[in-house]
Amino acid sequence: MKIEKELYAGKAKSVFTTDDPDLLILNFRDDTSAFDGKKVESLSRKGAVNNQFNAFIMQKLEAAGIKTHHEKLLSSNESVVKNLEMFPVECVVRNIAAGSICKRLGVEEGITLTPPTFEFFLKDDELGDPMINEYHIRSFGWAKDEHIEQMKTLTFQINDVLTQLFREAGLLLVDYKLEFGLFQGEVILGDEFTPDGCRLWDVETRKKLDKDRFRQGLGDVIEAYEEVATRLGIEFLGTFTK
Ligand code: ADP
Ligand code: UDP
Repeated sequence: MKIEKELYAGKAKSVFTTDDPDLLILNFRDDTSAFDGKKVESLSRKGAVNNQFNAFIMQKLEAAGIKTHHEKLLSSNESVVKNLEMFPVECVVRNIAAGSICKRLGVEEGITLTPPTFEFFLKDDELGDPMINEYHIRSFGWAKDEHIEQMKTLTFQINDVLTQLFREAGLLLVDYKLEFGLFQGEVILGDEFTPDGCRLWDVETRKKLDKDRFRQGLGDVIEAYEEVATRLGIEFLGTFTK
């Protein structure tokens, strides 16, 4: 498989086409952004840590019967993925209140949500990723009814798998964002699952071990990601060539 051209450079990853139209290469960069791209910094090792973290989680999900775009690791900071037709929406599940829901609804950070709650956001940085509902998704044709249902079902199934996985590592999965796309007519998990797109707290101390360390200027951002990875038993390959 040969790398062809850069299709898109996002805030944290670059997407490349290959000589196989069904496959793309995701390059996880060290760039770290928050507040819809208003705060940006390069954090050493982040690309490699997130690429391999993501591969580990995607493999766990596959083992639990959830289809993902992940094909294989290509290098320390690149992965081969299926070329999905992405839905322009983000699916968020919250097990514990944190972040935007606290501001929006005036609730205290740390409250357990029973049952966990689900929110859709429109993927549009210029608009600040506004929260939307299923009627917006239908009216604007961002996804069909059956695909909306599948995204919700899969997002909750993933919650069951990952809350348990993290709990066994002494971590609370507070919330997370997923993106889905279509591949040969089927809804498949795309993008990434890393500490950039979820909140993880130590179960005892509730220490934040995710991108909130960057958002809130708490320091030791990548050290925290590495601590999570170590607790999960992820072994980093370091730098390896293709
Ligand atoms: P952003 O676009 O939010 O700045 P990234 O820097 O992570 O985010 O860029 C990666 C882009 O690649 C995102 O727009 C994401 O929707 C898209 N993407 C992720 N996985 C796939 C896939 N399997 N097929 C096609 N596009 C994908
Ligand atoms: N999230 C994300 N990308 C986004 C928006 C949110 O990965 O564009 C993740 C975020 O890291 C958190 C969850 O989705 O784990 C819920 O985010 P929230 O709505 O609280 O927004 P925030 O205040 O984090 O911007």
